[in-house]
Amino acid sequence: MTGPTNAMITDGTLLVHCSANQALRCAPVAERPGAGLVVSPHQRDEAGLLATAAYLLRQRRFEAPLLLDAARYAGQARLPASAPFNPRWLRRQRELGLPVLTDSGYVDSGDEPGLAGILHRTAVLPGTIAVLPLHPAWLQDRLHRTVLTGHIRAAGVPVALVLEAGRDPFALPGVVEGLLAVLGCGVPTLLLRCDVSALGALCHGAVAAAVGTVAGLRHLTPRTPPPRPGARPHGFRPVAPSAVFRPTLSYRRIGAIARAHRGRPDPELFGCACTVCDGRDVDWMAALSDRDREVPAFEHSIRVLQDLRDELLPRDRPTEQPPGTAARSWTARCADAEYRSRELGWDAAPMLRHWQRHGPTGAAAATRPAA
Ligand SMILES: [Zn+2]
Repeated sequence: MTGPTNAMITDGTLLVHCSANQALRCAPVAERPGAGLVVSPHQRDEAGLLATAAYLLRQRRFEAPLLLDAARYAGQARLPASAPFNPRWLRRQRELGLPVLTDSGYVDSGDEPGLAGILHRTAVLPGTIAVLPLHPAWLQDRLHRTVLTGHIRAAGVPVALVLEAGRDPFALPGVVEGLLAVLGCGVPTLLLRCDVSALGALCHGAVAAAVGTVAGLRHLTPRTPPPRPGARPHGFRPVAPSAVFRPTLSYRRIGAIARAHRGRPDPELFGCACTVCDGRDVDWMAALSDRDREVPAFEHSIRVLQDLRDELLPRDRPTEQPPGTAARSWTARCADAEYRSRELGWDAAPMLRHWQRHGPTGAAAATRPAA
């Protein structure tokens, strides 16, 4: 898949999903082989997002793949799937030489006309990727899944999925299975707003998957119901930053990693060779304030996920891997991570079990936890 002038999205691309106010800081992290950037508006400012993109491309000479996500499907004022695309939004992406993503509204669980509408309207636009911001029932429920994959096959256009969930959508039963069904439709598939499961998607054939810089960009947060009359408004509570803990393939609070480390001073498990940690134990960030650890936590996480991607899908010799090798390796990594989680006394991330259950058979049996 290519944009007319922006760098090509090659198979197995691991993107960073950030908001426009983070884009300049994220650009260096996203500029390496097999990486790239997805940028969503900061506080719904689409004009600001376009200006940021123009700056990145023209002044900053950003050379990795760049995608713009209008995110009109998100937030309290989100638009429904039936909302028409904004022709100016589509045109501006084209003028910037970028891959074109539709500015789709949200596809609720009962909204088959909305789903079909997005795909039909995309099919008549040359070289455009249909953004599908989905209620998780579209992947979880067998009947929904059949309808979804039927419409995707019929339209035959590339799709970029965004999955709604309070936390990790891949923790929900049926979501991994549903994603694999979409990947089996034979259209180029991207996954936006994701976390560690981005790697699973890439190993199973997604063209690209994007990992969010902050929790709010690692899934589509459901709209909160309006407060009950007379209920006390609860204030905004900032979320303490989490970081990817490589042995358990999961995002963990830095404090939780530090506590586990005190109980088990095992250098093999806690040392991190990423460019941010530079050989230090990963909980070095615990000494920083929540505010100061946000940037290193994000950079560490992206670097670790990029390294894992390179190990699972070696970019220098992709054709040497027999088909299914990456998916089998991913299943084996999930089994190992589940074992490591139990060893540390943590609940394993539920997605680990779902990926193993639906991965290539026999892989888990071949897994031996690393010494
Ligand atoms: Zn690190």
